[in-house]
Amino acid sequence: MLKLNSIKKDYKTGDFIQHALKGISISFRENEFVAVLGPSGSGKTTLLNIIGGLDRYSSGDLVIDGKSTKKFKDKDWDAYRNHAIGFVFQSYNLIGHISVLENVEMGMTLSGVSASERRNKALALLDKVGLKDHAHKKPNQLSGGQMQRVAIARALANDPKIILADEPTGALDSKTSTQIMELIKEISKDKLVIMVTHNAELAEDYATRIVKMKDGEVLSDSKPYEENKNNGNLNIKKTSMNFLTALKLSFGNIRTKKGRTILTAFASSIGIIGIALILSLSNGFNIEVEKFEQNSLVQSPIIISNQTVRMDEDTLNELRGVTSQKRYPSDNKVFAEEDIANTIIHTNKITDEYIDYLDKMDKDNVSALSYVKGTSLNLVSKNGDDYTLVTPSTNMMWASTFEQLPEEPNDDGLINDNYDVLAGEISNEAGLVLFVNSRNQIDGELLKQLGFDKDASFEDIINKKLKVIVNDDYYKKIGSIFTVEEDLNKLYSSENSIIVKIMAILRGKEDKELIAGNTGLYYTKALGDKIIDKNKDSQVVLAQEKASYNVLTHQNFEDSVSKDMVLGYLGADVVPSSIYIYPKDFETKDAIINYLDGYNDGKSEENIIQYTDMAEMISTLSGNIMDAITVVLIAFSSISLVVSSIMIGIITYISVLERTKEIGILRAIGARKKDITRVFNAETFIIGIFSGVLGIAIAYLLTIPTNMIIEDLSGLAGVAKLNPVHALILIIISLTLTIIGGAIPSKMASRKDPVEALRTE
Ligand code: ADP
Ligand code: MG
Repeated sequence: MLKLNSIKKDYKTGDFIQHALKGISISFRENEFVAVLGPSGSGKTTLLNIIGGLDRYSSGDLVIDGKSTKKFKDKDWDAYRNHAIGFVFQSYNLIGHISVLENVEMGMTLSGVSASERRNKALALLDKVGLKDHAHKKPNQLSGGQMQRVAIARALANDPKIILADEPTGALDSKTSTQIMELIKEISKDKLVIMVTHNAELAEDYATRIVKMKDGEVLSDSKPYEENKNNGNLNIKKTSMNFLTALKLSFGNIRTKKGRTILTAFASSIGIIGIALILSLSNGFNIEVEKFEQNSLVQSPIIISNQTVRMDEDTLNELRGVTSQKRYPSDNKVFAEEDIANTIIHTNKITDEYIDYLDKMDKDNVSALSYVKGTSLNLVSKNGDDYTLVTPSTNMMWASTFEQLPEEPNDDGLINDNYDVLAGEISNEAGLVLFVNSRNQIDGELLKQLGFDKDASFEDIINKKLKVIVNDDYYKKIGSIFTVEEDLNKLYSSENSIIVKIMAILRGKEDKELIAGNTGLYYTKALGDKIIDKNKDSQVVLAQEKASYNVLTHQNFEDSVSKDMVLGYLGADVVPSSIYIYPKDFETKDAIINYLDGYNDGKSEENIIQYTDMAEMISTLSGNIMDAITVVLIAFSSISLVVSSIMIGIITYISVLERTKEIGILRAIGARKKDITRVFNAETFIIGIFSGVLGIAIAYLLTIPTNMIIEDLSGLAGVAKLNPVHALILIIISLTLTIIGGAIPSKMASRKDPVEALRTE
């Protein structure tokens, strides 16, 4: 079944060539117990290794079952070792960190035998060699003889046809040697056993055939055999170790050096800790910035008003050109300032066409929109028997007007997002809304005008009835100007007056921290529209439309008080004087800005409409700075990640050195090079996962004191927040880096010559 044809083996060391085998031709029967005798260095081990496929012959041919092995590839040899050969070594060569049972199972594991079948077979074999009770011990808990029995059980595991034993009793006392020889003899009944030994006596007693060797040649053969079978039909299943086995093997190995593994994992997790902390901080700060931005969006909507001050780069450059006067001149003269107003102030011509354009804007981007027409409310309150004119307390416009509430195209719009309704109910109907500050305060004068002294219950305010006086009652024509009717009693009881109520009291939400001062009475768009409807054809409006002067003061119009403004104030149906656009968030704001810019495309300078975007100025600053800091810090921490992956490389390299013997053993029982790579990749995989998880856990714990410090310093609570997605990504990065770090040593391990690997101690 086994035939060697002029097998030669040369070892090259530098210039020196050692002819270990000098052309050996010998055949073996299917069942016999061959003892190979010979002095040390005669080539016995070399012969055995070549027969077992652990080492390659230099020339000649090894014919197995009539099939030449000249064309064998690595994987063919691996499969051959796994299925056809069982090795027994002088030094037992058991894997120390797994149990006796797992040692016996290993060869079957490689050939893909199922777990239960593996277990049963291994236990049966251990029973056969008399070690059933020792199955769960580690090899180093056994005596030499017992270890050799385990090695024999392992050699038998895959039912090989050939058992190769290299001085199996070399390290045993004579009594134990005899027991082992009995066992091997028993095995040889239905197998080919080739045993190398020093002990001629044992060979005589047990072997059926004795081959003597000297200087790489066969000296004598007690029972030669000539094989003439030539029908090559050797068919062996390929082996392969699955990743789970590799993991188990590495896990067992790692367990034997817990301290080192924990230290390594900890050291390599430091980079992860650093990055995780930085990310959680920047994540937290970004959330804070976003909150702040969202608030600033509410407080700084995009404003389109009659006039904008241009502060863009182009304008500033233009200004520098305009100013011909040098700074710090040496002339002993005083100069008149140049008029730069025309350069930086742009007048927006808000037209119906523009309003139409705005109406076509994607309303999904907008949380609220407010067209301010500056329409005045002539509001009278009846307080007991007295009547009081209610005037707005916040004089934001040139004229004393109440501000119109932003319209709400969406249900959960600006108002609901940012304000708590303290009393009443907010709706789109005609009415008034009272805004109070965070201390529930409003202007004292306004409270008085509403008929209260120092305070008023919500209920009293909600129940308060007010009347809006129409223009034709309020304005009396005297000559070419109009004056106001001062008999409030008469105005209040006029049947034209419109009854209005304060429908709700609103206060900025606690976590929104809106700027104080937005207090006072606001009217809804419905009320504004209703009043414009009543007043647009009133005497005073018609007169103002015709007149080229202000009919209320008989003064000429100027930039700050234009005819349009007065018309708007009186309730004529004019285009809005300002438009407030409240975007949903910063992304939609960009879309809105794009849309607004779109209107200006191809328009001449004087017809473009400019807007003011305060929020942009605030947020670009804060956002950019945060991003920059984060990138720099992460770059620094990444260095420690690189360091840790190099460290993993070194640790894996050390592990490869330590496990060289194990590599040899695995190769001897049929593991492929790939499987060896897998074993070490599994090891780095375990360390990588462990260090990643450890790093994240430590970083998570560190956010607690970090947050305490930040809260102490800045008053912001719970800023550092580790985003779970970031955590997962970091673990994956850690894993990837350790695997990369371990890749080279793993590859080195797989390239190790199995014969040399087995020889290391
Ligand atoms: P034995 O097992 O009979 O004692 P070996 O087969 O181990 O002898 O060795 C045969 C000869 O080949 C010896 O001279 C030994 O020095 C040499 N030899 C064995 N392995 C190597 C090797 N890897 N490199 C160089 N020389 C080797
Ligand atoms: Mg030897």
